[in-house]
Amino acid sequence: MGAETIEHSPIHIMFFPFMGHGHMIPLVDMAKLFASKGVKTTILTTPLNAPFIFKTIEKSKSHSNINIQTIKFPCVEAGLPDGCENVDSIPSPELVPVFFKSTELLQEGFEQQLSLQHPDCVVSDMFFTWTSDSSAKFNIPRIVFHGISLFSMCVSICMAIYKPYENVSSDSESFVVPNLPGEIKMTRIQVMDYFKIAEWIERMKKIGESEEKSYGILVNSFYELERDYIDYFRKVLGKRAWQIGPLSLCNIDEEQKKYRGKEVSIDEHEWQKWLDTKETNSVVYVSFGSVVKFSDSQLREIAIGLEASGQQFIWVVKKSKNDGEEWLPEGFEKKIEGKGLIIRGWAPQVLILEHEAIGAFMTHCGWNSTLEGVAAGVPFITWPVSAEQFYNEKLVVDILKIGVPVGVKKWCLFSEIDQSIQWEAIEKTVRKILAKDEEAEEKRNKAKELSRLARKAVEEGGSSDLDLDSFIAELGSLRG
Ligand code: UDP
Repeated sequence: MGAETIEHSPIHIMFFPFMGHGHMIPLVDMAKLFASKGVKTTILTTPLNAPFIFKTIEKSKSHSNINIQTIKFPCVEAGLPDGCENVDSIPSPELVPVFFKSTELLQEGFEQQLSLQHPDCVVSDMFFTWTSDSSAKFNIPRIVFHGISLFSMCVSICMAIYKPYENVSSDSESFVVPNLPGEIKMTRIQVMDYFKIAEWIERMKKIGESEEKSYGILVNSFYELERDYIDYFRKVLGKRAWQIGPLSLCNIDEEQKKYRGKEVSIDEHEWQKWLDTKETNSVVYVSFGSVVKFSDSQLREIAIGLEASGQQFIWVVKKSKNDGEEWLPEGFEKKIEGKGLIIRGWAPQVLILEHEAIGAFMTHCGWNSTLEGVAAGVPFITWPVSAEQFYNEKLVVDILKIGVPVGVKKWCLFSEIDQSIQWEAIEKTVRKILAKDEEAEEKRNKAKELSRLARKAVEEGGSSDLDLDSFIAELGSLRG
């Protein structure tokens, strides 16, 4: 189905991602997906984020339908260091709220772009709450992109309405999330502190109000993955949502899969040649997304646990050679030569996950990583840290039954991670997920089946493809 309307001018969508890789990557994929349907797309971003996006869309077959426009981000004026245009360049925890607040300074530039380009709709990140009012000024529908699953959205909403964590007598006593399909059990210390921190309560209130004013939401997910929660969201909560993912699957060839987010820190021949020598399902891929930074002592526990498991691994660590080697046990890399590969910096995650030697994914359960793992058909070791990651762990472990939890008890702010997982737990879960026994085999089979369903969903006529077409058709009908 094409994106032309009766007037034969293509539908035009403006995408406005929050400046963090976990938000930019899926929204840029989304722009590529719409562009592949003949939709004219514009991506708005700040000057220092533009090169990442440019590199990504340059590899896309539909790049002629994608434009990038930049809006100046006066970070110094906002109290941030010069050049601090992405969450990964915030130098200290106390500047995190400043960064969030300063994104309001993008409003003027955003409105200028709306007035110049007058797109059919705007798809903007949930954190840009003011984009609802700006879009309304120009009579342009705003669609929200949260970047999370509908399962997590439903849990979050029920948690905010019913506050079940207030009815337990201790942090470790579990409660069931009320009025949701399935028996979702949580403990108080796993619940996001966002419900307790004044600044976040205010931010979440604004997100909710701004969403009320928006036209609907676009979701990076697919119906077959979380059908009960998609139905609940639409039918019980009465909200408008289109699920059009997994978005990462819009990247077809190797080049497209490689250039997502930042510049890759390892030569493809190195990791690929290394993996090519390994047996199917024999390597665990360990990575904690774009934001989580563990302490050196936690990194050492991971190193010891991986080695003790006796299994093969690829481990992505946010360190460079200049950071010294104190975070590694002495002589570690020599000892694990041939068995383990450490990538310092940024890994081509989707490509690695799709390699047949990868047998499991140890992840912080960021939604992009979770869905990329599902699309690749690998079982998980779950190690949630912050945001809605404990909800994603529930989905993976209790509902989809394709994961083993490493045993994290406590939710943290990204800027104050104080979890401490001992090497024994890491060793045990790595052995368990890669085992050749019936239990592990069952998880592998379930994961493979979900991968098949994910790929089917984005094929022509699949559930996500149909939702995408119906969304584009609806935009066309709004032109009147
Ligand atoms: N990613 C990557 N290479 C890395 C680290 C992360 O390609 O070395 C990508 C990953 O594939 C995913 C995104 O960065 O698309 C991380 O998003 P996620 O929601 O998993 O976690 P966040 O970074 O938001 O915590």
